[in-house]
Amino acid sequence: MKTTSQSQLPPGLHPETLAVRTAIPRSQYGENSEALYLTSGYVQPDAHTSAQRFLGEEDGYTYGRAGNPTVTSFEMRLAAIEGTESCMATSSGMSAIMLMIFTLLKSGDHVIISQSMFGSTIKLIGTEFARFGVESSIVAQSDVAAWKAAVRQNTKILFAETPTNPLTDVCDIQALADVAHNAGALLAVDNCFATPVLQRPIEMGADIIMHSGTKYLDGQGRVMAGALCASEKLVKEKFLPVMKNSGLILAPFNAWVLIKGLETLDIRIRAQSAKALEMAKWLEQQPQIARVYYPSLPSHPQHELAMKQMSGNGGALLSFDVKASSAEEARQRAFHVLDSLQVLSLCTNLGDTKTLLTHPASTSHGKLSDAQRSAAGIGQGMIRMAVGLEHVGDMQADLLHGLNTL
Ligand SMILES: *Cc1c(COP(=O)(O)O)cnc(C)c1O
Repeated sequence: MKTTSQSQLPPGLHPETLAVRTAIPRSQYGENSEALYLTSGYVQPDAHTSAQRFLGEEDGYTYGRAGNPTVTSFEMRLAAIEGTESCMATSSGMSAIMLMIFTLLKSGDHVIISQSMFGSTIKLIGTEFARFGVESSIVAQSDVAAWKAAVRQNTKILFAETPTNPLTDVCDIQALADVAHNAGALLAVDNCFATPVLQRPIEMGADIIMHSGTKYLDGQGRVMAGALCASEKLVKEKFLPVMKNSGLILAPFNAWVLIKGLETLDIRIRAQSAKALEMAKWLEQQPQIARVYYPSLPSHPQHELAMKQMSGNGGALLSFDVKASSAEEARQRAFHVLDSLQVLSLCTNLGDTKTLLTHPASTSHGKLSDAQRSAAGIGQGMIRMAVGLEHVGDMQADLLHGLNTL
């Protein structure tokens, strides 16, 4: 609904404070924890007010597809942490991308994305929206010149994700914002992996920050959610009207779970990133491992940029290649490590307090041809590890079950 960006709090509060305090006003009952408003309809005080609300001339809820107070609290809280004027919550990360492209582009418009982006993002923009005449270029993640060279007269959006999954490739947000703005286009950033705790794209010139709330914002692997953080103008005048008619709204229960997730985002991200750094350094020392991908390691190709852009922190996601002499052997060895786990989970998700491992070559990137996969740098020996909150010693011991028996 009216994405209330104003709140009763004094100005100048820090993100950690805003993360536990920003919400719609308490109800007449004075509940301390934010209320969960599970309702699809709203009783109108009188017919005139109802008419004004439907016209958008007066604040107030009308119908569950158009807005919900619990969803508004989540939107206010995430906007406050990202540092944007406003936010629009959606039912999943993909529906946030759907809403953004559907709202801002039309047939004949052009969008630039990177080849390292989330697989469904590339598929949605490069294949599904292509059916409606939306043009796209797919460029190398960290090559600013390639993004610049891909700009056309009809380019409306540059859409970047940094760091990426599973290679933790980084791109320069500030440089891409300049490229976008010089072309009269917008820069959108998928901030799923760094989260606003480590990276605030709005301060580097991004116009739209997209989230899969399913990941670190929930943080405990419970619900699907998404969001677009942007200016009041973009949210109110562009996203909201399309949102109301497209049914992409976030469910109130999921919003309530996320409100609580955001309260611990800062401490979770810092704790999980610290554990990920310890794991990355340890993995680099293991004789069975060929390479570790993690932004805080000096061996990372964009280490300096990543540290500058991500508050000196690498995030909670890393990947590593198991040593092998052929692709066949690499796959067997990676499977052996995964099948030997006794504590950590083999699970296609990330951003959980439980450590989750995946084999990208046979799952998220399983549909690519061998040539496409090796061009993307994803081998059969690669394991992705989304580090949770378990004790680092226990994580290491669990990985050694497989590594020591290769
Ligand atoms: C998971 C993910 C998405 C999609 O989000 P869903 O909530 O699964 O729809 C988009 N981008 C990134 C980087 C993701 O990890």
